[in-house]
Amino acid sequence: MRYQNDLYQPTNPPQNESSNTQKHLFIGIVCATLLIASYAFFSKKSEPLAPETIALTVPDITTKIEQSGANEAPITAVDSPTVKPLTITDANAPTQSMQGLSTIWQEHKVKSGESLSAIFSSNDLSKLDLHKIVHTNDISSQFATIQPGKSLMIGHDLTGEFSHLIYKKNAYAELKATKLEDGSFKVELLEKEVDRRINTATGVIHISLFIDGKNAGLPDNIIMQLASIFAWDIDFALNLHEGDRFSVIYEKLFIGNAFIGPRNILAAEFINRGKSIRAVRYQNADGKTSYYSSSGNSMRKAFLRTPIDFARISSHFNHKRKHPILNRIRAHKGVDYAARTGTPIKSAGDGKITYHGRKGGYGRVVIIQHGQKYSTLYAHMSKYRKGLHVGSRVKQGQVIGYVGKSGLASGPHLHYEFRVNGVHRNPLTVTLPNATPIQAKYKADFLEKSRILFDQLDQLNATQVATAATPE
Ligand SMILES: [Zn+2]
Repeated sequence: MRYQNDLYQPTNPPQNESSNTQKHLFIGIVCATLLIASYAFFSKKSEPLAPETIALTVPDITTKIEQSGANEAPITAVDSPTVKPLTITDANAPTQSMQGLSTIWQEHKVKSGESLSAIFSSNDLSKLDLHKIVHTNDISSQFATIQPGKSLMIGHDLTGEFSHLIYKKNAYAELKATKLEDGSFKVELLEKEVDRRINTATGVIHISLFIDGKNAGLPDNIIMQLASIFAWDIDFALNLHEGDRFSVIYEKLFIGNAFIGPRNILAAEFINRGKSIRAVRYQNADGKTSYYSSSGNSMRKAFLRTPIDFARISSHFNHKRKHPILNRIRAHKGVDYAARTGTPIKSAGDGKITYHGRKGGYGRVVIIQHGQKYSTLYAHMSKYRKGLHVGSRVKQGQVIGYVGKSGLASGPHLHYEFRVNGVHRNPLTVTLPNATPIQAKYKADFLEKSRILFDQLDQLNATQVATAATPE
């Protein structure tokens, strides 16, 4: 019971525990859900999380540096050196045309699996018109990529003749087809100008990253990005401490003064037990985006620190531990994570399975070799992930089996070992190698652009420390 409540809480002793139990449980569940979602996104691709509607569409966004709000700081965006403004064909479309007296509009919400052709049929529209619209010009084929949940506006003139079709791609882009006198169509993409404003936030951890992030004014999406960026360095479940601090520089998208949503974290700092970890977003000339440390190392590590979610450490790496079942001194050359039977166990890094089967006190065990130097071991599984065997290649984060108590175990847990050149090392403290650092050819560009953001983090820090020092 305790371990559910402890998820994502600072590890110092809770005060007033009984009265806080429900609150903690709630927070735990909320944060757990968030982090699962975050991890699900993150394990698909290393790209940060961006609102779907925005990420999938218009690539060019005007960068506007504003100083209007106390929270908004002037800064140059690192990843878009050549942002250019969108062409505003008609800022008010289709509102303008909808207000016209000559067109009668009806809205059609696109259903899952519904094609434009099916929509034309169900609305008694001509297949010939559909063909003409889709083949009008280069952009008109986008009508064929309509997505469920979005809206099509179908317009008829006063004689009942089909005259317009508008597809609302997202908050700031619409595809519009207009029937001309000769029966052909004009198709245009109408885009509103999107401003990208830079926001900053700082906060201190008292309860959890999620709650304290919210209190600092961070949108959910940005909190999830923050957790993802630092996932390799900080265990937000087990290693968060009261007084840890964070600073974030991120983008918000606006049309005019209307806020559409948050976008990317540009830079962030997390101070965990006094140790500062910083990350900055960088997009290279090939368009690849990732987060890097000030020296250009990837924030991603070749290994996950913890190969299991929603667990608590029940036994540390220890050369002189009294074995709980054997009841005699025996080195514990790994870390035990207590978790429910069936909890997924993930491969800590990319590698190849070299052992898959029972092994004495270890019970059901999987050993993975990662390159020449490293290997990891996962013991006491209740069952293996189907389809894996000796020789199988696995990716970092891929599920390889499930928690159990096979072999010599007093309760369900994962026994995890990390070996470097065959020698057991403490998985919690061993220095983990970084994933690929920034390419040499981009290094100078990276250093130049990231410097501005790191300076900005310095300023945020100075402000935060000064504010904290002021007596209330
Ligand atoms: Zn163990």
